[in-house]
Amino acid sequence: MKAVTRLAAAAGTLSLMLCTGCYEVPVTGRSAVSLVSDKEVAKQSVEAFNEMKKRYPVSRNREYNERVQRVGDRLSKVVFWDVPDAEWEFIVFEVPQQINAFAMAGGKVGVFTGLFKIVQNDDQLASVLAHEIAHVAARHVNERLSQDMAVQGGGLLVGGVMAGSGTGSITTGAVLDAYGLTSGITAVGFDRKKEKEADHIGLIYLARAGYNPEEAIKVLERLEEESTGKPMPPAWLSTHPSSPERILQLMDLMPKALEAYQRSGFKQTPTLVK
Ligand SMILES: [Zn+2]
Repeated sequence: MKAVTRLAAAAGTLSLMLCTGCYEVPVTGRSAVSLVSDKEVAKQSVEAFNEMKKRYPVSRNREYNERVQRVGDRLSKVVFWDVPDAEWEFIVFEVPQQINAFAMAGGKVGVFTGLFKIVQNDDQLASVLAHEIAHVAARHVNERLSQDMAVQGGGLLVGGVMAGSGTGSITTGAVLDAYGLTSGITAVGFDRKKEKEADHIGLIYLARAGYNPEEAIKVLERLEEESTGKPMPPAWLSTHPSSPERILQLMDLMPKALEAYQRSGFKQTPTLVK
């Protein structure tokens, strides 16, 4: 018995040694690999965010700004330990035709004013933002950049040779690309597995922040409605392929989310439905 335990321990140590750049995804506990430096990704993300600020006018709508700050403030508190180095910044961009939002490493979040056509209350806005922030907490962009580099660099990256080093090949353009923000409307989102993972993590964050997790399903339904009969679906939907599969997953996770909602330290105040 003892020998077996020792063997298991040795195997554990070995796999730990082999897995440079491994990390555990918050909430789901999945183990993932990042071969790029977190610092570098955050630095490039901040730069990419500054470029977005030049590309799109910042909204002066007081109501939208207040809503986004209020919701962002609560969500950023909930994810504090999962995204410890973030300097959170929530910006509303005046682009009424864009039904979209995004979050970047370093804590940079953008909301396009078109999203307000869809979200009816703070819970629904929080649901979209929690999903986007979940991509950051799960370091999906790091994962995608790592995959791209592994493909380009062939065997060079085995063992995480480049992890933590200068990794000069990460550019702002590559980072924007990885976020699916290069071309805006025709952007490509993450793969289905990452989207479902962001749904899962986002739902729990939403609940922990004291927002009703059931509103997450309503947002998906409203996005569906918005896209019916339109030649161009809302950007958020085109980068987030809608599927009953996503709603089913949310329903599966709902009991757990409702439990977190009940336990949430945030005061649950009724929100105004407009
Ligand atoms: Zn997503």
